[in-house]
Amino acid sequence: MDYDLFVIGGGSAGVRCARIAAGHGARVAIAEERFWGGTCVNVGCVPKKLLVQAGEYGGFADDAAGFGWTIKKGPHDWAKLLAAKDREITRLNGIYRRLLNNAGATIFDERAVFIDAHTLDVGGQRITAERIVIATGGNPTRLDIPGADLGIISDNAFYLPTMPKRVAILGSGYIAVEFAGIFTSLGANVDLVFRQPLPLRGFDMDIREVSAEALRAQGIVLHSDVTPVRIVQNGDARTLALSDGSAIDADIVFFATGRSPATANLGLDQAGVTTNRAGAVLVDDQLRTAQPHIYAMGDVTDRMNLTPVATAEGHALADTLFGNRPRRISLENVPTAVFTTPPIATVGLTEEQAAARGPVDVYVEKFTPMRHTVSGRARKTLMKLVVDQASQKVLGAHMIGEDAAEIMQGLAIAIVCGATKADFDRTIGIHPTAAEEFVTMRTRTRVAGVAQAAE
Ligand code: NDP
Repeated sequence: MDYDLFVIGGGSAGVRCARIAAGHGARVAIAEERFWGGTCVNVGCVPKKLLVQAGEYGGFADDAAGFGWTIKKGPHDWAKLLAAKDREITRLNGIYRRLLNNAGATIFDERAVFIDAHTLDVGGQRITAERIVIATGGNPTRLDIPGADLGIISDNAFYLPTMPKRVAILGSGYIAVEFAGIFTSLGANVDLVFRQPLPLRGFDMDIREVSAEALRAQGIVLHSDVTPVRIVQNGDARTLALSDGSAIDADIVFFATGRSPATANLGLDQAGVTTNRAGAVLVDDQLRTAQPHIYAMGDVTDRMNLTPVATAEGHALADTLFGNRPRRISLENVPTAVFTTPPIATVGLTEEQAAARGPVDVYVEKFTPMRHTVSGRARKTLMKLVVDQASQKVLGAHMIGEDAAEIMQGLAIAIVCGATKADFDRTIGIHPTAAEEFVTMRTRTRVAGVAQAAE
């Protein structure tokens, strides 16, 4: 065999796995056909967060008036922002390559396709490997409606030549609400079109309600309970027809309606690797595919499509195979954030999930944060703990409000460690912060779950 390990895909999962495996002394090669760092670095988390931060400055300038500043906002320079974003991404691409080089991995800027279970075609070269990792990620998808080609996907949103004035965004998942915030904060009129009554299906209901209020307060027009029917060219613009008979005119229609695993034309059949109907590679809890020496991780497995999960999986597999340190990654209590303004962050079970398992004590605080009592901006913070009634373990923490993501990371440690409500209560707060509310929630808001029915 040419290599001990061949990794297909240079994104978060693949790069980490290749780098750590090579560091353990394995003979490692990695192929990437598009961009080093994958979705997260190039057309995902990193550029997205820079665009979110760009929008926040506009809000800070407005809010400063309440604190005595006179700030006259000039126009926003989209081209300048994108150039700064591109410079940062180029820097990160270089870092990813350097990390691999320094670890001793062989790099191929090529597409790799299976010829058989141990052989790959890598840009025309036949390469064999003892073990192979599939870490090819996923791609944004459009809905199958007439005129879908007239819409854009998130990959395009990072390279728009000019800032659109009117944007219609389809969907209400992470990407939809984050970009709704980005475009609005940079001056566009945004329509958010989704088929649920509230955005962010799967998140805690209290969070979804306050999120809808926050999106509206930013000026985003919410079109709930509708689906898109067709897109028609309308001069330079587009007209989006909806299932309720209404229509929206926009410069850009943006499909944020999900992503699909990148498994097409990889030769998976030749390798004996199986996928589900959506094309996701099927893996067991040790990331093994139907072929025990072929592994898959990250978005291509379509389980929990988050960068830190992918990197953790890559690291764990490399340690398991080559570092004499076998371990698995738990997909329980994975904290996550949605970078709207204000952001949302969460770890553990929602009230609805927890209540389905048994009785829970629910603590909710909703308040105007100190900053906005002075800035005058109508923006609420909501913080919530879901506590198992019998064991008093905190099962879930949820927040929408400034710094939610920064606060939730620390809470996630406590929840992973199995902290109880009493542990939260005996922790001294940091004053004055919003975060201290998480350790000062003394009064139960309600009981949910089975006991409530019994009461
Ligand atoms: P999501 O799966 O989160 O959301 C897809 C959205 O499209 C939902 O609102 C869904 O509605 C809607 N939708 C799907 N099919 C249809 C349809 N046929 N008609 C109408 N609406 C439809 O996908 P995203 O594209 O937003 O993001 C993909 C993944 O990437 C996320 O799940 C997340 O794992 C990851 N991500 C994480 C981020 C972060 O950590 N901050 C940021 C961005 C992405 P419904 O709810 O009704 O199904």
